[in-house]
Amino acid sequence: MAHRLERDVQIEVTERGSTRPQALADLLRRLVALPPPILSLYMSLRWSDEQQRDRVWLTLRDRLRSLDDERPLRFVEERVKQGVDVGWGGAALFLGGGTELSVRSPADLPTLVALDGPALVRPLVAAAHGHERALVALVASDEVRVFELAMGRLTAAASHVGDVPKRHERGGWSQLKMQHHRQWHVDTLHREAATSITRMFDANGPVRVLLGGVHEAVANLEEELPKRVFDCVLRLESLAKDDPAHEVVAAAERAVLDADRGEDRAALARVKTLAASGGRGAFGFVQVLDAFNQGRPMRLFVPEKSDRVLALCGDCGFLSVQIGGPCSVCGGACLRLDAAEALVRAAVSLGARIDLADEVAAELRF
Ligand SMILES: [Zn+2]
Repeated sequence: MAHRLERDVQIEVTERGSTRPQALADLLRRLVALPPPILSLYMSLRWSDEQQRDRVWLTLRDRLRSLDDERPLRFVEERVKQGVDVGWGGAALFLGGGTELSVRSPADLPTLVALDGPALVRPLVAAAHGHERALVALVASDEVRVFELAMGRLTAAASHVGDVPKRHERGGWSQLKMQHHRQWHVDTLHREAATSITRMFDANGPVRVLLGGVHEAVANLEEELPKRVFDCVLRLESLAKDDPAHEVVAAAERAVLDADRGEDRAALARVKTLAASGGRGAFGFVQVLDAFNQGRPMRLFVPEKSDRVLALCGDCGFLSVQIGGPCSVCGGACLRLDAAEALVRAAVSLGARIDLADEVAAELRF
């Protein structure tokens, strides 16, 4: 499961004066298709103090002030000095060939500039990693609060409050009847909450469901979930019903990231075995490159950074380790690209899933 970023993550895109949320997958395809040269400007907006903010400003100003086009410098200045996009994690601008497109993300982005070449997409992919969409429910016996988590932001989605009598209220009831009566109210509340969690789960494709709160209450709610939802549950017992949002986000993202790492490691091991036996797997730069040139990958494992450079043909998209000279397939002009960026672009073009890993590998369609 866990079909993270590409499909799930929404990001705000501004173009020709209008701003709208867009699926990251669509934005990535759009950026990859822009003909170079494109100026790519990324900036972190998550500065913890004045010094950090000054550092972002000075780094970018020095790179941008010699340009003929003053739009990039203005973009940075508005954000550093005039309070545009306050509260967001990062912003980016892509400029060239009549395109002017800006993006803002709740997750942090690195600060960097590439003055020409194709639009850089890897920082967007990396930023979304570990910020996948999930449902979070904080569960008690008398209340369940459900949130949606995306790109580091928690949005209240539903709140269920039960009419649960306190344990010490007796009235004229016998102790046993009272317990049954109370449990009936708790079960009703948890069934309602399970129904609303399931509805959200089904509406937007499989996501992880994180359940926090008292053990007894969490176990009770779990029993009301259908198997397809139950299979995606992660328990977050460190959390309590009334924990502040930032603690919930931090704990939830940590749990999701840990679970992902485990899954990715297992998937990567499978792909390596397949590659070694000549099956539908490719391992290492050369094999993965070959596989992309044949349009075979359905899932790419790629490191966040690489120290290698690849040549990408601007006409036919052929990837090669041979730097310099025209494309060996069509004779078109080649661009030099960071290897990880080149593989991410190739994966976006093919619609392959992208996972960050320590090694380069690909699971193949055929
Ligand atoms: Zn070519």
